[in-house]
Amino acid sequence: MKFIKKFDVIIIGGGHAGIEAANICSNMNSITLLISNNIELIGELSCNPSIGGIGKSHLVKEIDSLGGIMGICSDESSINFQILNYSKGNAVKSTRVQLDRKIYKDSIINKLKNKKNLFLFQGIIDDIIIEKNIVLGIKTKNNFIFLSKCLIITTGTFFNPLIHIGNYSYISGRLGENLNSKLFEKLKKFGFQYSTLKTGTPPRLDGKSINFLKLKKQFLNSNIQYFSILSDNKIKKKQINCWITNTNFYTYYIIKKNIYQSSLFNGNINSIGPRYCPSIEDKINKFGKKKHKIFLEPEGLNSNEFYPNGISNSLPIEIQIKILRTLNGLENVNITRPGYSIEYNYFIGNHLKHSLESKIISNLFFAGQINGTTGYEEAASQGIIAGINASLKSNNKKKWYPKRYQAYIGVLIDDLIKKKINEPYRIFTTSSEYKLNLREDNVYLRLTEIGRKLKCVKNKQWFLFKKKKKIFKKKIRLLKTNLLTFNNIKNSKINFLFNNIKKKNIYSFFEIINKFKLNYDNFFNIFTNNNFKYKIFENDIKEQIENFCKYYGYYNKQLKNILKINKNKNYKINKNLNYNFIKSLSKEAKIKFNILKPNNLKEALSISGIDFNDILNLFFYIKK
Ligand code: FAD
Repeated sequence: MKFIKKFDVIIIGGGHAGIEAANICSNMNSITLLISNNIELIGELSCNPSIGGIGKSHLVKEIDSLGGIMGICSDESSINFQILNYSKGNAVKSTRVQLDRKIYKDSIINKLKNKKNLFLFQGIIDDIIIEKNIVLGIKTKNNFIFLSKCLIITTGTFFNPLIHIGNYSYISGRLGENLNSKLFEKLKKFGFQYSTLKTGTPPRLDGKSINFLKLKKQFLNSNIQYFSILSDNKIKKKQINCWITNTNFYTYYIIKKNIYQSSLFNGNINSIGPRYCPSIEDKINKFGKKKHKIFLEPEGLNSNEFYPNGISNSLPIEIQIKILRTLNGLENVNITRPGYSIEYNYFIGNHLKHSLESKIISNLFFAGQINGTTGYEEAASQGIIAGINASLKSNNKKKWYPKRYQAYIGVLIDDLIKKKINEPYRIFTTSSEYKLNLREDNVYLRLTEIGRKLKCVKNKQWFLFKKKKKIFKKKIRLLKTNLLTFNNIKNSKINFLFNNIKKKNIYSFFEIINKFKLNYDNFFNIFTNNNFKYKIFENDIKEQIENFCKYYGYYNKQLKNILKINKNKNYKINKNLNYNFIKSLSKEAKIKFNILKPNNLKEALSISGIDFNDILNLFFYIKK
């Protein structure tokens, strides 16, 4: 049976990649079909109901600045809010929110349901239709055919998935979701290279059985920041607590004693999981540490389930319960769902163009976990770029993708294509050599005008952006043109500081904020009287101005280092070099370099998980 209408773009999979792809295609006026095996599960958060975190919040903001919906839906459903990396500086500080799982999903589905040109359909796709190496459409399990100019595949962990709990293994893309699709087998035949990765999730706890009186409350941050420019203080937030407990000697003892029963150690799992998110049995086996912090995070305002962050494992269910009951406050805990590990296949990214179109089959795009990433934000970032490019291609327009210097999304896609990914890829602020410029605060200046040109950014967002940009430009102009001479200075402490840097008699406000790395309000309090006419109150713009001034010189220095490395990419590295002696290298870099022994800097750069600072430190060392 054939569906009469021919779509511009079809997207398979209603996960985080599929959602952003569908939303942006609709924004760009493409006739779009989002097809997923269960419409009720569109926007499902497979693991922790939480968005953001180090580097990931930058991705969410970039998605938002291009017209995506992950940010606004997170703002609408957040129930706890934290700033991470605060002490490490404004460029790398990151926002992380705990979400109400149900509100998030509702918020996503409501937005998609109301989109012009976007059709939703429930079905399992078993095959794609290809003629002369060009994709023409898809075929569902019950032989329904949908035709389209472009197709985006975002099937997440659903290719050849195998769930493991202790000795049990069974086929399912998420617990309770066995699609039994033939799509992976069909795609394999076209010559895509593939491999296997794994991830995992902890058991969920029944809140009734937790003794909260014995737990510590996590600090509740009152300085709420939004992911989306559209939220702009309008969303009233109800914040609820997360709780903290710890593993101890007894936890350690039970895990050690039963480790042979874990699917990770009984020979059932051989693939690699996300290094930064290891399971508890892995942590205990590798590091032998007895005390690990466990956060108990609520799954929603009206949910009684808690997510114990830090205790993901794939031990038998009865051992999972035993382990949990050794923790303070969880002595009588019951679980509502078991923890588990899952292995799945992904396609190695070397078949992709930067637009996320496949080099093997034209008009076919891939986005999300299927490309070897892990994380909702990483998936959504690829979804929006695949959506933009499928939409452009269906209109015979030129592709667009962000470059490494423009966005973390650009870094992620470039890494996926060029680096040899052999573990689930996750973004960090250290992943970017341009991190001082790729900040949360300047994200709209970096991307929204491009998004508008591509027709991704709608009017409401565009006018808000223009208003903010106008204020920003005006304030920077004033800071650059207003000058202070030594005679103006009233504060003796500042006079002292000023004397130390005195190279000239006159400094602009801009230069002073830059030199002293001052906070915007402090600057005006110290250098001028309080009712100074340039004082402004929009916190986001204030922060943007402050960071623009503070990071100015640093960023130029960073650019010089990037140029230096680019020029010396072929610089030879001695095969006998013992990387353990290079103190400035990260632990990860030492391990990987010692094993892989790169011949030159270019090879060192292509290793996944190696960041720019490692390359720079290596270069300075070998140059010596
Ligand atoms: P998914 O979100 O997996 O969505 C894929 C969609 O495609 C699903 O809706 C599925 O039903 C549909 N689909 C698949 N095949 C077909 C087909 N043939 N026909 C029709 N529809 C189909 N990330 C984090 O950030 N933090 C975590 O703590 C975390 N833990 C995880 C734990 C587990 C157990 C799992 C499975 C994943 C975890 N992840 C975590 C990863 C995160 O869930 C994924 O990176 C992210 O959801 C990937 O998004 P996606 O859109 O690529 O795929």
